[in-house]
Amino acid sequence: MTIKTTNLGFPRLGHKREWKKAIESYWNNKITKDELDNTLQQLHRSNLVLQQNHNLDSVPVGDFSLYDHILDTSLLFNIIPTRFQDRDVDDDLLFDIARGNKSHVASALVKWFNTNYHYIVPEWDNVTPRVNHNRLLERFNEAKALNVNAHPVIVGPITFVALSKGGDQSFEDKVRTLLPLYVEVLQSLIQAGAELIQIDEPILVTDQAAELEAITREAYEAFAEADVAKALVIQTYFERANVKFLSALPVKGLGLDFVHDHGYNLQQIENGDFDRSKTLFAGIIDGRNVWAADVEAKKALIEKLSQYSDDLYINPSSSLLHVPVSLEDETLEDDIRDGLSFATEKLETLDALKRAVNDNDTEAYDRLHAQYTRFQNQAFKNLEYDFESVRAERASAFSERKVVQQQRLNLPDLPTTTIGSFPQSPEVRKQRADWKNKRISDEAYRQFVQDEIKRWIEIQEDIGLDVLVHGEFERNDMVEFFGEKLDGFLVTKFGWVQSYGSRAVKPPIIYGDVKWTAPLTIDETVYAQSLTDKPVKGMLTGPVTILNWSFERVDIPRSTVQDQIALAINEEVLALEKAGIQVIQVDEPALREGLPLRKEYHEDYLAKAVHSFKLATSSVTDETQIHTHMCYSQFGQIIHAIHDLDADVISIETSRSHGDLIKDFEDIDYDLGIGLGVYDIHSPRIPTEDEITTAIERGLQQIDRSLFWVNPDCGLKTRKEDEVKAALTVLVNSARKLRQEAVETN
Ligand code: GLN
Ligand code: ZN
Repeated sequence: MTIKTTNLGFPRLGHKREWKKAIESYWNNKITKDELDNTLQQLHRSNLVLQQNHNLDSVPVGDFSLYDHILDTSLLFNIIPTRFQDRDVDDDLLFDIARGNKSHVASALVKWFNTNYHYIVPEWDNVTPRVNHNRLLERFNEAKALNVNAHPVIVGPITFVALSKGGDQSFEDKVRTLLPLYVEVLQSLIQAGAELIQIDEPILVTDQAAELEAITREAYEAFAEADVAKALVIQTYFERANVKFLSALPVKGLGLDFVHDHGYNLQQIENGDFDRSKTLFAGIIDGRNVWAADVEAKKALIEKLSQYSDDLYINPSSSLLHVPVSLEDETLEDDIRDGLSFATEKLETLDALKRAVNDNDTEAYDRLHAQYTRFQNQAFKNLEYDFESVRAERASAFSERKVVQQQRLNLPDLPTTTIGSFPQSPEVRKQRADWKNKRISDEAYRQFVQDEIKRWIEIQEDIGLDVLVHGEFERNDMVEFFGEKLDGFLVTKFGWVQSYGSRAVKPPIIYGDVKWTAPLTIDETVYAQSLTDKPVKGMLTGPVTILNWSFERVDIPRSTVQDQIALAINEEVLALEKAGIQVIQVDEPALREGLPLRKEYHEDYLAKAVHSFKLATSSVTDETQIHTHMCYSQFGQIIHAIHDLDADVISIETSRSHGDLIKDFEDIDYDLGIGLGVYDIHSPRIPTEDEITTAIERGLQQIDRSLFWVNPDCGLKTRKEDEVKAALTVLVNSARKLRQEAVETN
């Protein structure tokens, strides 16, 4: 048996974020377009050569982009938003569509399936599809000139149309419009020597796939008719695909994810659903996480798969866009390094497997096997937990808690509060950077944070808010902050991944059992409380969000990791309570975005999310008021889970969803405290008193007044100090007026 190796896409970002820095410098007029082009060309080439040097039989080309590969495809086919149609199709247009400019708003950004990557939504209104500047061909030729054995990557027509919006044509007609354009591009690539073309169709792993089969068949039969299907590998990832259906299409091959498919892809293969004369791109190494693979298990899988395909490639389960570039410059203890594998190391693993399978050359394989085994046996992965000993239900029902909380807090009608953060001013960021780089002492930094807290407690008192916050000045990021302080988490130096455009995030890595060992937020919160008689709300990030915005462990069930985090947060909740904090908010902005791709897994996900949140928050006494926050209002089918969280108060974003804001609350009798965001913090505009009053009154039509809170949509860290002061003053005045009116009419 002989197998080959390939890859589906490589991170664009560059090991030290060179890509981001070059693009942003260009936006800020610090470098010219030529300089940008040169830097990016070098980066592109070094990515290709790096992959080639890892002995791949075929290196992907076309995954590299100046912003987003879906936007590249839109430009390639001239799917340009109406408001930008009078312009030349070039890179400046690309950036303007992505970011907006003085006269026109940007196109929408949407989450790429269940990842934290975001793509630019193609807009079909009034478009004149045609093939523009064929950059894919250029890049392919560039690879050839470097003697890199490359295969072009392009997003397929079914996925492209499914992710786009607007236009009068039906879904099918949009696909039909694009087919000849695809044929033109595919032909150009085949003529240039491409024998394999990876055509990404991840939409075919979603619940939508079944209803798309007819048009999928039509499209790929048309490609066969035009004699371009002979090079196409239909690539799926993130979930299972319908192997029998795709195998019957007249294409060269099929790419399947054998990591995130819940075992179903392999099952279908073993059922004989795969046509063995076709090429199989087998996604056996996880393209979404940072862990070293169990090479022994992977080798067994390869042996199994090789019985079902005569042309077998092994590759990551998806593009490596979702993982950092390399471990090279990390300073890590050896026992942790053993377990990690970023994009570059994943390519090494593929090569080790190939050598072991093809040539019985097991040197690299044996080393990886030993490392994997060592890592799995680490003490930090084998702590004991007693999940049962922690309460996952509040002692009393909300109706009883509400009474004792009110006795203690003595809040007015329509209480006002904020979501937690105040402006991360340039000064705040500078002090933190100075402290991190050891330019100022721990003591000086602590003093700075305290001064800032004091200033903002006074501001909040002057404005007249009812429940105050300390302002989160000590936090860089609501997940990384906790990752730095809890056992079991690792914060890397260069573990960046692209979130959207030039924006990158550095998710912490959960490598071991999670443990709370020392207070995380007590100092700042207690200090803030010492300055005022008003209640100060403690501010924590919840277990579901911490897990979802980290690289998670996969050697134990996800729900176990989530519950471990929940126990850690529970410790902090109890520590805050013990220190006299009466209101504690546990944010869960990522709860909804973590929903699995397929509906059949939603119920299980939500039940586990609710359980973890309750594990984190239910041990407090009845008098302690638990808040939560989410940055969206379209709860739809998850509204019941939101209610099940049993938080005393939830604050949610609503101001951008206008009239339909509370639709989801109509089919459920929402009977817990709720703060509907009354103004949009994403805009620098100061709301008027009328606007806020209207927003409150609209909410009151749906929600009982005794449950209603008045607050902004989200945290205020991105706003300027003056804006925040002005907006909160208006907010408090509106609430006061409404209280006064209520007194007068009674
Ligand atoms: N408490 C956080 C803040 O105010 C919440 C942020 C969020 O919802 N993403 O910034
Ligand atoms: Zn928010």
